[in-house]
Order: sequence, then C-alpha cells, then structure tokens
Amino acid sequence: MPTRIVVLGGSFGGLTAALELKRLLGSKADVTVVSDDDRFVFMPSLPWLIMGWRKPEDITLPISDILKPKGINFIHEAAREVDPEAAKVITAGNKELSYDFLVISTGPQLSFAEIPGLGPEKGHTDCTFTLEHAVRTGQTWRKILENPGPLVLGSSQMVSCFGPSYELAFEMDAELRRLKMRHKVPIIYLTSEPYLGHMGVGGLGLSKRFIEDEFAERDIKPIVSQAIEEVTPGEIKLKDGTKVPFKLAMIAPPFKGVPAVAPLGNPRGFIPVDKNYRHIKYKNIFAIGVAIVIAPPEVTPVPTGVPKTGFMTLKMAKIAASMISADITGVTPPVVDELGVVCLMDMGNTAAFMRAYPLLPPRQSSYMKKAVWAKWLKLGFEKYFLWKMRHGLSVLP
Ligand SMILES: Cc1cc2nc3c(=O)[nH]c(=O)nc-3n(C[C@H](O)[C@H](O)[C@H](O)COP(=O)(O)OP(=O)(O)OC[C@H]3O[C@@H](n4cnc5c(N)ncnc54)[C@H](O)[C@@H]3O)c2cc1C
Repeated sequence: MPTRIVVLGGSFGGLTAALELKRLLGSKADVTVVSDDDRFVFMPSLPWLIMGWRKPEDITLPISDILKPKGINFIHEAAREVDPEAAKVITAGNKELSYDFLVISTGPQLSFAEIPGLGPEKGHTDCTFTLEHAVRTGQTWRKILENPGPLVLGSSQMVSCFGPSYELAFEMDAELRRLKMRHKVPIIYLTSEPYLGHMGVGGLGLSKRFIEDEFAERDIKPIVSQAIEEVTPGEIKLKDGTKVPFKLAMIAPPFKGVPAVAPLGNPRGFIPVDKNYRHIKYKNIFAIGVAIVIAPPEVTPVPTGVPKTGFMTLKMAKIAASMISADITGVTPPVVDELGVVCLMDMGNTAAFMRAYPLLPPRQSSYMKKAVWAKWLKLGFEKYFLWKMRHGLSVLP
C-alpha cells in the first residue's frame, strides 16, 4: 500500500511540497492536496495587479491542471479540523482523510477583526494579501488617480509580511510622478516596525539607511513603531491618539494561524516545528511557510512577526518533503542548513536586490543593492516561476 500523504494548502508551500513528494516517492506515495482555493495565485505580483500592470488571469493557474498530470489528488475544500491522535483531516464538507504524514501550509489567517474598522469587508481600509483584496485595492487606486487625496500604506501590529507595503509605497510614488500628479497625493508609510527597513528581521544590511534615504528623496512620510487603535471612514486612530486621515489606506492586518490548524499551534495558532519542519509533538506532521512559528530576533515596542517569504517557503517545502521521503524509504535525510533569504523589492521604476544569511542576525553576510537589473530579475522570475508551476515542476531553490 502506498503511504498516504495529505497536504493542506495549494500555494507556494503546499504545491511545492506535493510536487516534490511525488517526484521523490513516485508510486510509493499517494499524495492529496486539500485547498479552499482552486487557483494558485502568484502573490508577489499582487502589487502589480493593484497598479494595473497585471490582470488576475496573468498570475493565476488552476491547481488541478498542475497536479493531475503528476498523479496528485486534489480536493477543493477547506480543511475544518485536524485530529492528530487519529491522524485524520476533516474537511468542511465532512470528508475524513486519514494520513500517514500530514504537511500543513495553510498560510495566515488575516485577522482584521482584532482592530475595529480595519479591512475591506467589514472596515474602511484596503489590503493586498489576497487576489480579491488586490482587485478591490486597484479600484480604489484608480479612484485616487481621478480624485487625488492622501495615501496611507503600511502594516498594523502583529504583521509578519512588510515587503508588499514598501513595494506599493515606491510603486505609487513612481506612478504618480510619471503622471505628474505626485504633488497632489501625500504618501504616509505607517508601520509597527520600530524603524524603517526593520521588516520583522531586525533590518537587513543597509536596509534602515537605504529606506530612510529613499523615502526622504521621494517625500514619503514615515510613521514608525505605531499600533492602530481603530479605523473610521477616512481616518486611522493610533494608540498614542494621533489621527491620520486617508483617502486610500492599504494596511496589512495582524496575522494568525488558520482555525483548522490553530489547535496544533501556539496561542496565535502558528505551528511550532523543529529545524526539519517537523511538528515538535506529532512526528508525522510537518508545517511550512507562513503557518509556522519563527521567534522574532528581538522584542519590538509594538509586536511584529518574522516574515516567511516565498523563497523561504519553497526551501521549507523541499526540506519537509525530503524528510518525509527519508522516513518512508529509510535513506539518510540530508543535513539541513540554516535558512537564508533572497528578496527582490520592486520600487516602481527600479528595484532592490536583498540577500541575507542566515535570516536573523547576527549574520555571516547580507547585501542590498538598488539596480535596474533587479527589476529585470523580478520580471523574469515571475515568468520563470509561473512556467515551472504550470508544468508541475517544483521551483528554486
Ligand atoms: C502581496 C504579497 C507579495 C509578496 N511578495 C513576495 C516576494 O516578492 N518575494 C517572496 O519571496 N515572497 C513574497 N510574498 C510572500 C509569499 O507570497 C509567501 O511567503 C507565500 O505565499 C507563503 O506560502 P504558504 O504556502 O506558506 O501560504 P499561502 O501562500 O498563504 O497559502 C496558503 C494556502 O492555504 C490555503 N488554505 C488556507 N486555509 C485553508 C484551509 N482551512 N484548508 C485548506 N486550505 C487552506 C489557501 O487557500 C492557500 O492556498 C508576498 C506575499 C504577498 C501577500
């Protein structure tokens, strides 16, 4: 009988883990992906979608088209619950899926409800973290171009993904300058980070100085180390009482683990794993990507989380797959090195290349460089990634 492996989540982590498991194990494994979304969305391009530079169909792929040719099962349903003792996943439609190994890559729950008035559904702010949110933010952005007013971009407390807000600040600035209307649109970058360029990892090489200089040159006003108390129509109230008016506010919400897997995790629902991404208690459960706990490198006055980027998530997926494969076949598992990070931050008319090893300080090496070649690299990577995913090939690193 083949080993039954269930993978929760159909994005960077889940698809990469499933494809890698099938590649390593072939007919020895029966791999099933469960996801509440039947599309793969290339999220790094969502800021470009907001700007009107991409359409949804440019950056989405049907999951079944990726998995079916590889002999991987796909269930388009949300997981409702995991019973680790019985080794079963229960789906929203009450299917019971027994597993020998489980891989969790369910990403974050976007916890808008923690801040009154936050979010696109029940509140007054926009967001860039899902395709639907990005489409909506794009509509608000186009209204700003017709009827200019102040922009507030950034992150609330408990966020662990800062890159897209920086990208949008640079992109909107560049686009407004191109349209010769930057003087009509004040831009504020509001963040829980203790300083610009912190990004939840205590900075990355020159990132603090780099972002400070770029923001000064571009006249983007920073408000750092702030938590949001509430949002009312057209106004963000900070915990220190400051009121920040806006016409468009694109604010990242607090992150939590998704309810289906949260009971396996810490108080915020993120899953504790060892260095091989194996659950610290349940040895047949692996968790990867945004779903896992990574302790922050330092306590910040306003709580921030450590980002788990796409690059890191792919690496985690490959490591988890090789550990499961080693458990099943009995071969010696590979020695796992510490995680590093590589990022390409779009800046509208240019981009920045960032690399750090390891992810958290103190570091052996870090590098940050603004260059037009980084923009070309980012454009090329989008095409390369989507081409590989379309053909069911797991991607770098
Ligand atoms: C706007 C934006 C820009 C980004 N830019 C970059 C970048 O330039 N470079 C980079 O390296 N990283 C970037 N990232 C980060 C990158 O997208 C994430 O690291 C990556 O998506 C994490 O993958 P994941 O599989 O952990 O989670 P996610 O991508 O969040 O996927 C979670 C999956 O689980 C599914 N799911 C959720 N709940 C359930 C449930 N109960 N049952 C079944 N399925 C469920 C979801 O539908 C989804 O398919 C960006 C992220 C965003 C939002």
